Amino acid sequence: MARKFSMDRRAYLKTVGAAGTTAAVAGCLGNGGNGNGNGNGNGNGNGDGNGNGNGNGDGDDVIVPGTASGFPPFEYTQDGELVGFDVDLAEEAITRAGYEVGDWVDIEFDSLIPSLTGGDIDLVAAAMTITDERSEQIAFSNPYYEANQSVLVSSEGDFAPEGESDLEGRVVGAQSGTTGAAEAERLIEEGVVDGDDYRQYDNYTLAVEDLENGNVDAIIIDVPVANNFADSRSVEVAFVIETGEEYGLGMRQDDDRIGDINDALAEIREDGTYEDLVAEYFE
Ligand code: GLN
Repeated sequence: MARKFSMDRRAYLKTVGAAGTTAAVAGCLGNGGNGNGNGNGNGNGNGDGNGNGNGNGDGDDVIVPGTASGFPPFEYTQDGELVGFDVDLAEEAITRAGYEVGDWVDIEFDSLIPSLTGGDIDLVAAAMTITDERSEQIAFSNPYYEANQSVLVSSEGDFAPEGESDLEGRVVGAQSGTTGAAEAERLIEEGVVDGDDYRQYDNYTLAVEDLENGNVDAIIIDVPVANNFADSRSVEVAFVIETGEEYGLGMRQDDDRIGDINDALAEIREDGTYEDLVAEYFE
């Protein structure tokens, strides 16, 4: 049932985009009680232009989203199509904010911030934790999801660590550039894990494969994604590291459109769309 909802909505978004009336329809969606039709005002102006020259806008009405797939259920590929909680949430937010969703760019997590600041993409939707370090380079939307880190191990082997000290002498991995990697690096600094026993991966999917193959003893990864892998692969969460992270959508610091995106995110929460997405991807 949830699936059907998603398919319908995705198809709907595509239709809207193709008709070149994204902004006008977003206005309809948004008139459920909030007067912040500012996005609509923009959109209406653009509507005419689109009618004539569909797609050759000067860029300001299009938001090109970027992500790093292989992080289910937030972003992953299914039958060659990019799907996930973040994908739906970002498309919904962009559309409701009165902009057009550009073609998704799917790259390594490490490349997202440089691509954003360099202008190749306009918005990062990649379960990216809001951190002080990242906030020096990019702007984050209001938080849209909370997570901790977890230590993921093979469910076939007999390694069942109960706490950080049990990781001593073990091979530990994480996806480079992530907050999970930061936790691994902290364990190295604290002398728990040996620097030589640290494996960095371009992608968490590769890390999980190495875990299943016995090439690494433990992976440090966001809890919701660990749970997802545990459902479908021979891996399980051994314990949680409470990091209290919050995910945000990333935009360039000088991109004023983030205000419209925040308004849209609030509306998505208020009208129950957020709950529907959670039900679809996490239950
Ligand atoms: N939330 C983690 C981070 O921001 C992991 C994100 C990811 O791997 N997509 O670093």
